[in-house]
Amino acid sequence: MGIVVQKYGGTSVADKERIFRAARRAISEYEKGNKVVVVVSAQGDTTDELIEKAREINENPSKREMDMLLSTGEQISIALMAMAIEKLGYPVISLTGWQAGIKTDSHYSNARIIEIDTERLQRELDKRNIVVVAGFQGINKYDDITTLGRGGSDTTAVALAAALKADKCEIYTDVDGVYTADPRIVPNASKLKEISYDEMLELATLGAKVLHNRSVELAKKYNIPLVVRSSFNDNEGTIVKEVNSVEKLLVSGVACDKDIARVAVIGVENVPGKAFQIFSLLAKENINVDIILQSIGREKTKDISFTVSKSNLKQTLDVLTKNLHVIGAKDITYADNVAKVSIVGAGMVNNPGVAAMMFEALYDAGINIEMISTSEIKISVLIDEKDAEKAVRAIHDKFKLHLLNNEK
Ligand code: ADP
Ligand code: ASP
Ligand code: MG
Repeated sequence: MGIVVQKYGGTSVADKERIFRAARRAISEYEKGNKVVVVVSAQGDTTDELIEKAREINENPSKREMDMLLSTGEQISIALMAMAIEKLGYPVISLTGWQAGIKTDSHYSNARIIEIDTERLQRELDKRNIVVVAGFQGINKYDDITTLGRGGSDTTAVALAAALKADKCEIYTDVDGVYTADPRIVPNASKLKEISYDEMLELATLGAKVLHNRSVELAKKYNIPLVVRSSFNDNEGTIVKEVNSVEKLLVSGVACDKDIARVAVIGVENVPGKAFQIFSLLAKENINVDIILQSIGREKTKDISFTVSKSNLKQTLDVLTKNLHVIGAKDITYADNVAKVSIVGAGMVNNPGVAAMMFEALYDAGINIEMISTSEIKISVLIDEKDAEKAVRAIHDKFKLHLLNNEK
């Protein structure tokens, strides 16, 4: 007997049949004598549809009101899931984020969970209720509803598992595990039996949306093994867990991120302090900068380019244009038709040939690299957005990831 947290994503609760399938799975854990918490996302494309509805009214709505709107998707799901479990004859209660005690900071649309008051949850579990909790939402110190960023229901599940000291945290989705690349882009990608927190965190951050990156961060912090499985079958999933028990693969995955834009500050005076000026302006606006490239100074000037997420592009251009004279630059240019393609692997640290192999794959496919960035366990390149899928496939092929044998 223990505590089990199960999370069902949007596709897994998209219609009546799927809701009942998830309900039965939750009940089978309950039948084993476990305390069961079920976290659900909004059904199907509900969140996207709500965003579209908002845009029809106001193309630049306040983030507080967006959170008020988007949180309703998950509220529909918890009620329907609870009704399904009720119908199957089991005791159940649904709770919104605030009812479940999920407290967040006030960063509307991208809030972080700071604390979970589990009193109500514990009480309901002690009464032998199955507890269905709305994913992706919490409440801040002003009693306002906040959301956790797209894909944030995974993080709700892991945070609840940590707070309740759960024995199991299972993420049910529409693929049966974590693959060496998005199976929608690379149909012959291999399923990973297991992957380390660090690699999964990189993959998630670099665009593999199968898990919300913050959920992996939390799982690592509290050492909670995550199981990623399909809600449509009983196939064995992927276990995300601590690194030392995972075999170090040279490359364990390829990820792709199209939510990215490149900004170039042209003709910056070639004197000390310029990079500091530019990036502190952006830091003040809370804008995250990713790959940075500075050209070798020629004559008396240099160019500094970097990437930001598409949602930060307008703000970035505004702040830099406003301060053009302060920075002492000639021009600001940008491109939003770019994509970042990355490889991740704990084994690449001691293998100097990996970057060359990745670049060769891109060369063979006739794809131009605009920027490069590396760290111990990842290499990213910025390329034209139209080449993104081709690049992922070429790199996946080059490293023969479809042949990956990761059975123990
Ligand atoms: P959910 O609604 O269940 O949270 P998501 O759509 O957020 O599901 O995440 C699952 C999707 O992630 C898959 O359908 C798949 O297309 C995509 N994906 C991207 N990269 C990977 C990967 N490396 N392995 C598995 N799925 C991936
Ligand atoms: N419904 C939210 C989204 O679509 C949260 C989630 O599904 O995890 O991003
Ligand atoms: Mg998701």
